[in-house]
Amino acid sequence: MTQVLLGCIADDFTGATDLANNLVRAGMRVVQTIGVPDTSVTVDADAVVVALKSRTIPVADAVAQSLDALRWLRSVGAQQIYFKYCSTFDSTPLGNIGPVTDALMEALDTDFTIACPAFPENGRTVFKGYLFVGDELLHESGMRNHPLTPMTDSNLVRVLQSQTKRRVGLIDYRTVAAGPAAISERIRALRIEGVSMAVVDATSNADLMALGPALKSLPLVTAGSGVAIGLPQNVGLVPAAAAGQLPQALGFRAIVSGSCSTATNAQVADFVEGGGAAFAVDPLQMANGQDVVSDALEWAQQRIATAPVLIYATARPEAVSAVQARLGVAQAGEMVEHALASIARGLAERGVGQLIVAGGETSGACVQALGIQSMRIGPQIAPGVPWCHAGSPHAREGAMHLALKSGNFGATDFFTRAFELLS
Ligand code: ADP
Repeated sequence: MTQVLLGCIADDFTGATDLANNLVRAGMRVVQTIGVPDTSVTVDADAVVVALKSRTIPVADAVAQSLDALRWLRSVGAQQIYFKYCSTFDSTPLGNIGPVTDALMEALDTDFTIACPAFPENGRTVFKGYLFVGDELLHESGMRNHPLTPMTDSNLVRVLQSQTKRRVGLIDYRTVAAGPAAISERIRALRIEGVSMAVVDATSNADLMALGPALKSLPLVTAGSGVAIGLPQNVGLVPAAAAGQLPQALGFRAIVSGSCSTATNAQVADFVEGGGAAFAVDPLQMANGQDVVSDALEWAQQRIATAPVLIYATARPEAVSAVQARLGVAQAGEMVEHALASIARGLAERGVGQLIVAGGETSGACVQALGIQSMRIGPQIAPGVPWCHAGSPHAREGAMHLALKSGNFGATDFFTRAFELLS
Protein backbone atom coordinates (compact mmCIF):
# COMPACT_ATOMS: atom_id res chain seq x y z
CA MET A 1 0.00 0.00 0.00
CA THR A 2 1.36 3.46 -0.96
CA GLN A 3 1.82 6.04 1.79
CA VAL A 4 -0.73 8.85 1.36
CA LEU A 5 1.49 11.90 0.91
CA LEU A 6 -1.11 14.56 0.32
CA GLY A 7 -4.60 14.70 1.84
CA CYS A 8 -6.89 17.21 0.17
CA ILE A 9 -10.19 18.74 1.25
CA ALA A 10 -12.11 20.31 -1.65
CA ASP A 11 -15.10 22.59 -1.08
CA ASP A 12 -17.03 21.31 -4.11
CA PHE A 13 -17.26 18.27 -6.35
CA THR A 14 -16.02 19.47 -9.74
CA GLY A 15 -13.31 21.50 -7.98
CA ALA A 16 -12.13 18.28 -6.36
CA THR A 17 -11.85 16.59 -9.75
CA ASP A 18 -9.99 19.59 -11.14
CA LEU A 19 -7.43 19.33 -8.31
CA ALA A 20 -7.16 15.55 -8.69
CA ASN A 21 -6.57 16.00 -12.41
CA ASN A 22 -3.70 18.45 -11.78
CA LEU A 23 -2.08 16.12 -9.24
CA VAL A 24 -2.23 13.19 -11.68
CA ARG A 25 -0.69 15.33 -14.42
CA ALA A 26 2.14 16.20 -12.03
CA GLY A 27 2.85 12.52 -11.32
CA MET A 28 0.74 11.49 -8.33
CA ARG A 29 -1.66 8.53 -8.23
CA VAL A 30 -4.91 9.98 -6.94
CA VAL A 31 -8.19 8.77 -5.48
CA GLN A 32 -11.16 11.13 -5.04
CA THR A 33 -13.83 10.33 -2.48
CA ILE A 34 -17.38 11.62 -2.53
CA GLY A 35 -17.82 13.08 0.94
CA VAL A 36 -15.93 11.73 3.95
CA PRO A 37 -15.65 7.93 3.74
CA ASP A 38 -16.19 5.81 6.83
CA THR A 39 -13.12 4.70 8.72
CA SER A 40 -13.16 1.19 7.24
CA VAL A 41 -12.20 2.56 3.80
CA THR A 42 -8.52 2.23 2.88
CA VAL A 43 -6.79 3.90 -0.05
CA ASP A 44 -3.82 3.05 -2.18
CA ALA A 45 -2.69 6.37 -3.68
CA ASP A 46 -0.15 9.18 -3.34
CA ALA A 47 -2.92 11.71 -2.82
CA VAL A 48 -6.56 11.57 -1.75
CA VAL A 49 -9.06 14.32 -2.50
CA VAL A 50 -12.18 14.41 -0.32
CA ALA A 51 -14.94 16.19 -2.23
CA LEU A 52 -17.24 18.17 0.05
CA LYS A 53 -20.07 20.53 -0.84
CA SER A 54 -19.12 23.20 1.67
CA ARG A 55 -18.50 26.35 -0.35
CA THR A 56 -21.69 28.20 0.49
CA ILE A 57 -23.17 26.28 3.41
CA PRO A 58 -23.29 27.92 6.88
CA VAL A 59 -19.81 28.53 8.35
CA ALA A 60 -20.25 26.13 11.28
CA ASP A 61 -21.26 23.30 8.94
CA ALA A 62 -18.34 23.97 6.56
CA VAL A 63 -15.93 23.91 9.51
CA ALA A 64 -17.43 20.71 10.94
CA GLN A 65 -17.34 18.89 7.59
CA SER A 66 -13.77 20.03 6.88
CA LEU A 67 -12.58 18.86 10.31
CA ASP A 68 -14.32 15.56 9.73
CA ALA A 69 -12.46 15.21 6.41
CA LEU A 70 -9.19 16.14 8.17
CA ARG A 71 -9.71 13.42 10.79
CA TRP A 72 -10.28 10.82 8.10
CA LEU A 73 -7.28 11.98 6.03
CA ARG A 74 -5.06 11.73 9.08
CA SER A 75 -6.43 8.28 9.82
CA VAL A 76 -5.19 7.11 6.41
CA GLY A 77 -1.79 8.66 7.10
CA ALA A 78 -1.88 11.87 5.01
CA GLN A 79 1.35 13.76 5.67
CA GLN A 80 0.37 17.19 4.33
CA ILE A 81 -3.10 18.73 4.07
CA TYR A 82 -4.33 20.81 1.11
CA PHE A 83 -7.54 22.84 1.47
CA LYS A 84 -8.81 23.45 -2.06
CA TYR A 85 -11.18 26.28 -2.98
CA CYS A 86 -12.20 27.93 -6.23
CA SER A 87 -9.67 29.77 -8.40
CA THR A 88 -11.94 32.82 -8.14
CA PHE A 89 -11.73 32.61 -4.32
CA ASP A 90 -15.52 32.15 -4.14
CA SER A 91 -16.65 33.01 -0.65
CA THR A 92 -19.54 34.62 1.13
CA PRO A 93 -18.94 37.67 3.34
CA LEU A 94 -18.66 35.29 6.31
CA GLY A 95 -16.36 32.76 4.70
CA ASN A 96 -16.00 29.94 4.29
CA ILE A 97 -12.33 30.10 3.29
CA GLY A 98 -11.10 32.03 6.36
CA PRO A 99 -12.99 30.11 9.06
CA VAL A 100 -12.19 26.69 7.55
CA THR A 101 -8.49 27.65 7.28
CA ASP A 102 -8.53 28.82 10.92
CA ALA A 103 -10.07 25.56 12.09
CA LEU A 104 -7.66 23.41 10.08
CA MET A 105 -4.66 25.40 11.37
CA GLU A 106 -5.82 24.92 14.92
CA ALA A 107 -6.43 21.21 14.47
CA LEU A 108 -3.02 20.79 12.84
CA ASP A 109 -1.40 22.97 15.48
CA THR A 110 0.34 25.16 12.92
CA ASP A 111 0.91 28.92 12.97
CA PHE A 112 1.37 29.50 9.24
CA THR A 113 -0.14 28.71 5.87
CA ILE A 114 -0.50 30.26 2.44
CA ALA A 115 -3.51 31.23 0.32
CA CYS A 116 -3.17 31.15 -3.44
CA PRO A 117 -6.05 30.61 -5.89
CA ALA A 118 -3.77 31.22 -8.94
CA PHE A 119 -4.25 28.84 -11.89
CA PRO A 120 -2.42 30.60 -14.75
CA GLU A 121 -3.32 27.91 -17.33
CA ASN A 122 -6.96 28.88 -16.76
CA GLY A 123 -6.28 32.62 -16.69
CA ARG A 124 -6.39 33.01 -12.90
CA THR A 125 -3.37 35.02 -11.77
CA VAL A 126 -2.46 36.86 -8.56
CA PHE A 127 -0.34 40.03 -8.73
CA LYS A 128 0.42 42.20 -5.70
CA GLY A 129 -2.30 40.30 -3.92
CA TYR A 130 -4.91 41.18 -6.56
CA LEU A 131 -6.72 38.35 -8.34
CA PHE A 132 -7.22 38.56 -12.08
CA VAL A 133 -9.70 36.50 -14.11
CA GLY A 134 -8.25 36.60 -17.61
CA ASP A 135 -7.47 40.27 -18.22
CA GLU A 136 -9.99 41.56 -15.69
CA LEU A 137 -9.70 42.14 -11.98
CA LEU A 138 -11.90 39.72 -10.04
CA HIS A 139 -14.40 42.40 -9.01
CA GLU A 140 -14.77 43.56 -12.63
CA SER A 141 -15.31 40.03 -13.95
CA GLY A 142 -18.61 38.14 -14.12
CA MET A 143 -17.91 37.00 -10.55
CA ARG A 144 -19.24 40.31 -9.25
CA ASN A 145 -22.73 39.09 -10.16
CA HIS A 146 -22.45 35.52 -8.91
CA PRO A 147 -25.78 34.55 -7.30
CA LEU A 148 -24.22 32.92 -4.21
CA THR A 149 -20.69 34.29 -3.88
CA PRO A 150 -20.49 37.74 -5.48
CA MET A 151 -16.84 38.87 -5.39
CA THR A 152 -16.66 42.66 -5.11
CA ASP A 153 -13.07 43.10 -3.90
CA SER A 154 -10.07 41.83 -5.89
CA ASN A 155 -7.56 42.37 -3.08
CA LEU A 156 -7.23 38.92 -1.55
CA VAL A 157 -5.29 40.12 1.49
CA ARG A 158 -8.29 42.30 2.35
CA VAL A 159 -10.86 39.62 1.49
CA LEU A 160 -9.14 36.97 3.59
CA GLN A 161 -8.42 39.40 6.45
CA SER A 162 -12.17 40.09 6.67
CA GLN A 163 -12.76 36.36 7.29
CA THR A 164 -10.15 35.67 9.99
CA LYS A 165 -8.78 37.09 13.22
CA ARG A 166 -5.27 35.92 12.32
CA ARG A 167 -2.98 38.37 10.52
CA VAL A 168 -2.88 38.09 6.74
CA GLY A 169 0.20 39.11 4.72
CA LEU A 170 1.58 38.87 1.18
CA ILE A 171 4.41 37.04 -0.55
CA ASP A 172 4.74 39.21 -3.62
CA TYR A 173 5.84 38.52 -7.19
CA ARG A 174 9.41 39.76 -6.61
CA THR A 175 9.97 37.21 -3.87
CA VAL A 176 8.34 34.45 -5.92
CA ALA A 177 10.50 35.34 -8.94
CA ALA A 178 13.62 35.06 -6.74
CA GLY A 179 12.88 31.36 -6.19
CA PRO A 180 12.21 28.79 -3.46
CA ALA A 181 14.93 29.97 -1.05
CA ALA A 182 13.68 33.56 -1.15
CA ILE A 183 10.09 32.39 -0.60
CA SER A 184 11.15 30.28 2.40
CA GLU A 185 13.04 33.25 3.80
CA ARG A 186 9.98 35.47 3.39
CA ILE A 187 7.82 32.87 5.17
CA ARG A 188 10.30 32.94 8.08
CA ALA A 189 10.16 36.75 8.21
CA LEU A 190 6.36 36.85 8.06
CA ARG A 191 6.11 34.32 10.89
CA ILE A 192 8.35 36.50 13.06
CA GLU A 193 6.08 39.47 12.29
CA GLY A 194 3.10 37.45 13.50
CA VAL A 195 1.54 36.88 10.09
CA SER A 196 -0.24 33.51 9.93
CA MET A 197 -1.67 33.44 6.41
CA ALA A 198 0.09 34.79 3.35
CA VAL A 199 -1.52 35.39 -0.01
CA VAL A 200 1.02 34.42 -2.69
CA ASP A 201 1.46 36.11 -6.07
CA ALA A 202 1.70 33.77 -9.06
CA THR A 203 1.28 34.59 -12.73
CA SER A 204 2.82 31.55 -14.41
CA ASN A 205 3.40 27.82 -13.95
CA ALA A 206 7.05 28.68 -13.28
CA ASP A 207 5.90 30.68 -10.24
CA LEU A 208 3.90 27.68 -8.99
CA MET A 209 6.88 25.37 -9.49
CA ALA A 210 9.08 27.81 -7.51
CA LEU A 211 6.48 27.95 -4.75
CA GLY A 212 6.25 24.15 -4.37
CA PRO A 213 9.58 23.49 -2.60
CA ALA A 214 8.97 26.37 -0.17
CA LEU A 215 5.74 24.67 0.97
CA LYS A 216 7.36 21.32 1.70
CA SER A 217 7.40 21.68 5.48
CA LEU A 218 3.98 23.35 5.89
CA PRO A 219 1.40 21.03 7.47
CA LEU A 220 -1.36 22.94 5.64
CA VAL A 221 -1.55 24.53 2.19
CA THR A 222 -4.68 26.41 1.09
CA ALA A 223 -5.08 27.10 -2.61
CA GLY A 224 -6.98 26.64 -5.85
CA SER A 225 -5.99 23.65 -7.96
CA GLY A 226 -2.97 25.39 -9.55
CA VAL A 227 -0.55 25.22 -6.60
CA ALA A 228 -0.89 21.42 -6.74
CA ILE A 229 1.39 21.20 -9.78
CA GLY A 230 4.38 22.24 -7.67
CA LEU A 231 3.96 19.75 -4.82
CA PRO A 232 4.69 16.28 -6.29
CA GLN A 233 8.32 17.37 -6.99
CA ASN A 234 8.78 17.65 -3.20
CA VAL A 235 8.48 13.88 -2.89
CA GLY A 236 10.53 13.12 -5.99
CA LEU A 237 7.56 12.53 -8.31
CA VAL A 238 7.65 13.76 -11.89
CA PRO A 239 4.95 13.80 -14.60
CA ALA A 240 4.43 10.22 -15.83
CA ALA A 241 1.62 8.52 -17.74
CA ALA A 242 1.64 5.70 -15.17
CA ALA A 243 0.12 8.04 -12.57
CA GLY A 244 -3.11 8.13 -14.57
CA GLN A 245 -3.25 4.47 -15.52
CA LEU A 246 -6.70 2.89 -15.13
CA PRO A 247 -7.89 -0.70 -15.51
CA GLN A 248 -8.92 -1.72 -19.02
CA ALA A 249 -12.25 -0.24 -20.09
CA LEU A 250 -15.05 -2.78 -20.48
CA GLY A 251 -18.73 -2.66 -21.30
CA PHE A 252 -20.93 -0.52 -23.51
CA ARG A 253 -20.57 3.23 -24.01
CA ALA A 254 -23.10 5.92 -23.18
CA ILE A 255 -23.43 9.64 -22.57
CA VAL A 256 -25.96 11.25 -20.24
CA SER A 257 -26.19 15.01 -20.60
CA GLY A 258 -28.06 17.43 -18.35
CA SER A 259 -25.88 20.49 -18.85
CA CYS A 260 -27.46 23.30 -20.88
CA SER A 261 -24.24 25.30 -21.26
CA THR A 262 -23.13 26.69 -24.60
CA ALA A 263 -20.29 24.15 -24.80
CA THR A 264 -22.53 21.17 -24.01
CA ASN A 265 -25.17 22.28 -26.53
CA ALA A 266 -22.42 22.34 -29.18
CA GLN A 267 -21.12 18.91 -28.07
CA VAL A 268 -24.60 17.37 -28.28
CA ALA A 269 -25.17 18.92 -31.72
CA ASP A 270 -21.78 17.64 -32.90
CA PHE A 271 -22.57 14.09 -31.76
CA VAL A 272 -26.05 14.11 -33.36
CA GLU A 273 -24.82 15.66 -36.62
CA GLY A 274 -22.07 13.04 -36.77
CA GLY A 275 -24.77 10.34 -36.92
CA GLY A 276 -24.62 9.33 -33.24
CA ALA A 277 -27.66 7.60 -31.72
CA ALA A 278 -29.40 10.15 -29.50
CA PHE A 279 -32.56 10.28 -27.37
CA ALA A 280 -33.93 13.65 -26.21
CA VAL A 281 -35.55 13.70 -22.77
CA ASP A 282 -38.44 16.17 -22.71
CA PRO A 283 -39.08 17.68 -19.24
CA LEU A 284 -42.62 18.72 -20.17
CA GLN A 285 -43.55 15.16 -21.15
CA MET A 286 -42.08 14.03 -17.86
CA ALA A 287 -44.14 16.59 -15.96
CA ASN A 288 -47.22 15.26 -17.76
CA GLY A 289 -46.60 11.82 -16.28
CA GLN A 290 -44.87 10.12 -19.21
CA ASP A 291 -42.40 7.44 -18.01
CA VAL A 292 -39.47 8.97 -19.85
CA VAL A 293 -36.89 6.96 -17.88
CA SER A 294 -38.33 3.63 -19.09
CA ASP A 295 -38.72 4.98 -22.64
CA ALA A 296 -35.08 6.09 -22.72
CA LEU A 297 -33.76 2.82 -21.29
CA GLU A 298 -35.84 0.72 -23.68
CA TRP A 299 -34.58 2.82 -26.60
CA ALA A 300 -30.97 2.46 -25.37
CA GLN A 301 -31.24 -1.28 -24.79
CA GLN A 302 -31.74 -1.85 -28.53
CA ARG A 303 -28.67 0.18 -29.51
CA ILE A 304 -25.94 0.08 -26.88
CA ALA A 305 -24.38 -3.14 -28.12
CA THR A 306 -23.51 -1.55 -31.46
CA ALA A 307 -22.47 2.06 -30.78
CA PRO A 308 -22.32 4.72 -28.04
CA VAL A 309 -25.72 6.22 -27.18
CA LEU A 310 -26.51 9.74 -26.00
CA ILE A 311 -29.47 10.51 -23.75
CA TYR A 312 -29.86 14.22 -23.19
CA ALA A 313 -32.02 16.91 -21.60
CA THR A 314 -29.58 19.53 -22.89
CA ALA A 315 -31.53 22.35 -24.51
CA ARG A 316 -31.04 25.91 -25.74
CA PRO A 317 -31.71 28.81 -23.33
CA GLU A 318 -35.17 29.60 -24.82
CA ALA A 319 -36.34 26.02 -24.34
CA VAL A 320 -34.93 25.86 -20.82
CA SER A 321 -36.66 29.15 -19.91
CA ALA A 322 -39.97 27.82 -21.25
CA VAL A 323 -39.66 24.68 -19.11
CA GLN A 324 -38.65 26.72 -16.07
CA ALA A 325 -41.59 29.08 -16.55
CA ARG A 326 -43.96 26.10 -16.54
CA LEU A 327 -42.37 24.04 -13.76
CA GLY A 328 -40.25 26.44 -11.70
CA VAL A 329 -36.45 26.65 -11.89
CA ALA A 330 -35.59 24.41 -8.94
CA GLN A 331 -38.36 21.88 -9.63
CA ALA A 332 -37.40 21.54 -13.30
CA GLY A 333 -33.73 21.10 -12.36
CA GLU A 334 -34.41 18.49 -9.71
CA MET A 335 -36.86 16.54 -11.85
CA VAL A 336 -34.45 16.36 -14.79
CA GLU A 337 -31.46 15.50 -12.56
CA HIS A 338 -33.43 12.73 -10.90
CA ALA A 339 -34.55 11.27 -14.24
CA LEU A 340 -31.05 11.39 -15.75
CA ALA A 341 -29.58 9.78 -12.62
CA SER A 342 -32.10 6.92 -12.88
CA ILE A 343 -31.20 6.57 -16.54
CA ALA A 344 -27.46 6.44 -15.71
CA ARG A 345 -28.12 3.70 -13.15
CA GLY A 346 -30.32 1.80 -15.62
CA LEU A 347 -27.61 2.03 -18.28
CA ALA A 348 -25.01 0.62 -15.88
CA GLU A 349 -27.36 -2.25 -15.05
CA ARG A 350 -27.72 -2.91 -18.79
CA GLY A 351 -23.99 -3.27 -19.28
CA VAL A 352 -22.71 0.27 -19.84
CA GLY A 353 -19.19 0.35 -18.43
CA GLN A 354 -17.97 3.60 -19.99
CA LEU A 355 -20.16 6.56 -19.11
CA ILE A 356 -19.78 10.27 -19.81
CA VAL A 357 -21.96 12.62 -17.76
CA ALA A 358 -22.26 16.27 -18.79
CA GLY A 359 -23.23 18.81 -16.13
CA GLY A 360 -21.91 19.52 -12.63
CA GLU A 361 -25.17 19.01 -10.73
CA THR A 362 -26.13 16.21 -13.11
CA SER A 363 -22.82 14.47 -12.34
CA GLY A 364 -23.45 14.74 -8.61
CA ALA A 365 -26.90 13.16 -9.02
CA CYS A 366 -25.57 10.35 -11.26
CA VAL A 367 -22.65 9.50 -8.96
CA GLN A 368 -25.08 9.27 -6.06
CA ALA A 369 -27.54 7.09 -7.99
CA LEU A 370 -24.68 4.80 -9.03
CA GLY A 371 -23.71 4.36 -5.37
CA ILE A 372 -20.16 5.55 -6.05
CA GLN A 373 -18.06 6.40 -2.99
CA SER A 374 -14.66 6.93 -4.51
CA MET A 375 -12.96 7.13 -7.90
CA ARG A 376 -9.43 6.59 -9.14
CA ILE A 377 -8.38 9.49 -11.36
CA GLY A 378 -7.04 8.68 -14.82
CA PRO A 379 -5.78 10.54 -17.87
CA GLN A 380 -7.03 13.99 -18.81
CA ILE A 381 -9.55 14.20 -21.66
CA ALA A 382 -9.78 18.00 -21.68
CA PRO A 383 -8.46 20.55 -19.16
CA GLY A 384 -10.17 19.81 -15.84
CA VAL A 385 -11.86 16.60 -17.04
CA PRO A 386 -10.17 13.23 -16.49
CA TRP A 387 -11.42 9.69 -17.04
CA CYS A 388 -12.09 8.04 -13.68
CA HIS A 389 -12.63 4.47 -12.57
CA ALA A 390 -15.08 3.71 -9.79
CA GLY A 391 -16.70 0.81 -8.04
CA SER A 392 -20.50 0.77 -8.39
CA PRO A 393 -22.93 -1.84 -7.10
CA HIS A 394 -25.03 -1.14 -10.20
CA ALA A 395 -22.29 -1.79 -12.76
CA ARG A 396 -22.24 -5.27 -14.35
CA GLU A 397 -18.53 -5.68 -13.70
CA GLY A 398 -18.83 -4.10 -10.24
CA ALA A 399 -16.93 -1.05 -11.50
CA MET A 400 -17.05 1.37 -14.41
CA HIS A 401 -15.23 4.18 -16.20
CA LEU A 402 -16.70 7.65 -15.80
CA ALA A 403 -16.01 11.08 -17.25
CA LEU A 404 -17.79 13.84 -15.32
CA LYS A 405 -17.79 17.04 -17.33
CA SER A 406 -18.96 20.27 -15.81
CA GLY A 407 -20.76 22.87 -17.92
CA ASN A 408 -18.46 24.74 -20.21
CA PHE A 409 -15.57 22.26 -20.28
CA GLY A 410 -14.37 20.38 -23.33
CA ALA A 411 -14.10 21.00 -27.07
CA THR A 412 -16.97 20.42 -29.52
CA ASP A 413 -15.93 16.82 -30.27
CA PHE A 414 -15.57 15.97 -26.55
CA PHE A 415 -17.99 13.01 -26.60
CA THR A 416 -16.26 11.19 -29.46
CA ARG A 417 -12.72 12.12 -28.38
CA ALA A 418 -13.29 10.93 -24.85
CA PHE A 419 -14.16 7.39 -25.97
CA GLU A 420 -11.26 7.34 -28.44
CA LEU A 421 -8.88 8.17 -25.60
CA LEU A 422 -10.16 5.21 -23.59
CA SER A 423 -9.57 2.72 -26.40
P1 ADP B 1 -23.72 22.79 -15.78
O1 ADP B 1 -22.46 22.10 -15.30
O2 ADP B 1 -23.71 23.11 -17.23
O3 ADP B 1 -24.12 23.95 -14.88
P2 ADP B 1 -25.65 21.22 -14.32
O4 ADP B 1 -25.95 19.77 -14.47
O5 ADP B 1 -24.86 21.64 -13.12
O6 ADP B 1 -24.89 21.68 -15.64
O7 ADP B 1 -26.96 22.08 -14.33
C1 ADP B 1 -27.92 22.00 -15.33
C2 ADP B 1 -29.29 22.02 -14.69
O8 ADP B 1 -30.27 22.20 -15.70
C3 ADP B 1 -29.62 20.72 -13.98
O9 ADP B 1 -30.32 21.00 -12.80
C4 ADP B 1 -30.52 20.02 -14.99
O10 ADP B 1 -31.40 19.09 -14.39
C5 ADP B 1 -31.26 21.19 -15.58
N1 ADP B 1 -31.81 20.92 -16.93
C6 ADP B 1 -31.26 20.13 -17.88
N2 ADP B 1 -32.00 20.13 -18.98
C7 ADP B 1 -33.04 20.94 -18.76
C8 ADP B 1 -34.15 21.37 -19.56
N3 ADP B 1 -34.31 20.92 -20.80
N4 ADP B 1 -35.01 22.22 -19.00
C9 ADP B 1 -34.84 22.68 -17.75
N5 ADP B 1 -33.82 22.33 -16.94
C10 ADP B 1 -32.91 21.46 -17.44
